[in-house]
Amino acid sequence: KEKAEKEATIDSLTQVPNRHSFYNRAKAILKQADHLGEPLCFLMLDIDFFKHINDTYGHPQGDRVLIACARTIEKTIREKDLLGRLGGEEFAVLLPNTKIDEARVIAERIRISIAELSFHTPALTQSYHTTVSIGIAYASENMYAYELLYKHADLALYLAKQSGRNLVVCDTDRLSARK
Ligand code: C2E
Ligand code: C2E
Repeated sequence: KEKAEKEATIDSLTQVPNRHSFYNRAKAILKQADHLGEPLCFLMLDIDFFKHINDTYGHPQGDRVLIACARTIEKTIREKDLLGRLGGEEFAVLLPNTKIDEARVIAERIRISIAELSFHTPALTQSYHTTVSIGIAYASENMYAYELLYKHADLALYLAKQSGRNLVVCDTDRLSARK
């Protein structure tokens, strides 16, 4: 039974919570933050040009990149922060009791740690690097709905991609840029 439970909640490739379990845990954390009136940030991360990695070096290499990214994010955040794989090359991190400026520091730390990773092709003839784009959404006061945070982080991530990738963008940047 334990094994079945683990399979249902943990992504088998990267060993981090899957989309469904991330959602459930995030909802509980959001509810508590709302109750306590604590700030909270949501990071959405997407590996840049992931399709290119799969197409150029093959799917086993793509898998290695996903695993390495998950391990790197895990090492870079605190125990109480929640990491999940939303699917494909997309991850999310929920940062309880964290303000936007702190979230920016954390996102930058993740972005740099991943850019510093080095990968080798199976024949060791080439090495390559990978980068991530990160969108940040900030929850405070009346904005603790998961769907809303998700949407704002996704829009910020879209802007990071549009602005050249390997970048961190906050939803507040997005709103001020539009003015
Ligand atoms: P900092 O790295 O500039 O982080 C500033 C603040 O951002 C931290 O203040 C904390 O509120 C938030 N923060 C940074 N990283 C994380 C994270 O991974 N998860 C979460 N949830 N929040 C984070 P705080 O806690 O007062 O820490 C002050 C300084 O103490 C940090 O400045 C850092 O220099 C050091 N520090 C604290 N905890 C650790 C740790 O576990 N490892 C390392 N290497 N340094 C730490
Ligand atoms: P942890 O709190 O679970 O943090 C795990 C890792 O996330 C840290 O590994 C560090 O790489 C990163 N991290 C977390 N918070 C911060 C931060 O505020 N700033 C920076 N720059 N990095 C952060 P690390 O440094 O090897 O620390 C391992 C564990 O040691 C931490 O686990 C925490 O339990 C403890 N620790 C380390 N430094 C501090 C500190 O300054 N204050 C406190 N209260 N605990 C610390």
